Amino acid sequence: MDQKETESLKNVDTSPGRGSLLEKGVNRRQAIKYGIIGLAGLAGVGSTAYYVLRSARLEGTASVFKNDAPKGELWELWKKRGWVKEAYHYRKLGRNVQCQVCPNKCVLEPGDRSHCRNKVNKGGKLYTLAFGNPCAIHIDPIEKKPLLHFLPGTPVFSIATSGCSLRCLNCQNWDISQKKPEETKDARGEEVKLDRRRAAYFTREDMARLSMFPGDVVKLAEEFKCRSIAYTYSEPTSFYEYMLDTGRLARSKEIKNVWVTNGYIEQEPLRDLCQCLDAANVDLKSFSEKIYRKLNSGKLRPVLETLKTLKEHGVWFEITNLIVPTYTDKLDMIRRMCDWLLENIGPGYPLHFSRFHPQHKLDQLPPTPVGVLMEARSIAQKAGLQYVYVGNVRGIPDAETTFCPNCKKAVVERTIYLVRKMNIEGGKCKFCGTKIAGVWTA
Ligand code: SF4
Repeated sequence: MDQKETESLKNVDTSPGRGSLLEKGVNRRQAIKYGIIGLAGLAGVGSTAYYVLRSARLEGTASVFKNDAPKGELWELWKKRGWVKEAYHYRKLGRNVQCQVCPNKCVLEPGDRSHCRNKVNKGGKLYTLAFGNPCAIHIDPIEKKPLLHFLPGTPVFSIATSGCSLRCLNCQNWDISQKKPEETKDARGEEVKLDRRRAAYFTREDMARLSMFPGDVVKLAEEFKCRSIAYTYSEPTSFYEYMLDTGRLARSKEIKNVWVTNGYIEQEPLRDLCQCLDAANVDLKSFSEKIYRKLNSGKLRPVLETLKTLKEHGVWFEITNLIVPTYTDKLDMIRRMCDWLLENIGPGYPLHFSRFHPQHKLDQLPPTPVGVLMEARSIAQKAGLQYVYVGNVRGIPDAETTFCPNCKKAVVERTIYLVRKMNIEGGKCKFCGTKIAGVWTA
């Protein structure tokens, strides 16, 4: 990201989008599709049509899967299971619909499937296919998310469906994130429900037929004594309705909600989500619009806005920056990212540099050299960030140790996902009494 880009971010309008269709970003072809031009023509306002074309922006509206929504028996089975729900944030454009959840702003004609693969236009309404049908469930240590300043040492009930809003070349969970719900779930045969007794002998086939609605998720999290539920592994924004309903219910039962995300979301759905969100780990994949486009098929600016909004709503969050050789390993870019974080977010939100391992479409690249990770950590510390970690790597001293920003003593020592020593009491350093940022007790 160059200086000009950084400057322009300072003046970003973060208010929820309420503008007209054209203000929301529609290109010329779509304008024709929606009949806007025809409408202007009918009204005899030629100059209006011209203005419409000129003011239409090219951003948003990602590529979608044409005529790929489930039909016939498959659609009926999916509905019968309860795995279909009308989407929460979308606008109708005649028979077409536009999803408003993430900056992709998918426009779907009847029968189309969204970019994230989880949403379809059926009969002029937008539906999610990813409701109550997780394809992955697990109980993880909270440190694995990674969240090192949030309820340390506690188990987190973790769920995911298929789907993702981005196309990262290095995705480590591509086998679920780049799949349709119908490729990970089987709506035929007998429905499977999970309870604590059954968990020990649960098979892959059971998983495919498992229904787990928000009430089931919350109940199981309680049974397994998890203090929080994480929406994770793929991109939870692509199963927004399932996450939000589960999150609201969990909140009412005093179970916390954790969002592990690429941060690629529009402001209005994010603000709704913040009402029940307790913590997040946000991937800040690089600090360059160009690299975001090339490596992730996304945009940087909305992710930075997400960080600001989480802060504004008092949601605890930590940031992960994966250092991918030849893509995101420029130290100068890392320096500018740290400076932006310090200025716009503050020094107290942890930053995790994560080591890349060959994955998905970048399986020919080497892992990130340890020296680069050490340099990145040093840059972030010198910039003034107080809690900087290095993850996905062995052999770096104090990679996951929390130091008091005042007396510099180790206040939390960890080995991989295990907390070995805790010198924090009441959220403060046991040695000098300085407040350590984070959520240390429920
Ligand atoms: S959440 Fe999915 S359907 Fe909605 S805009 Fe993003 S990619 Fe498209």
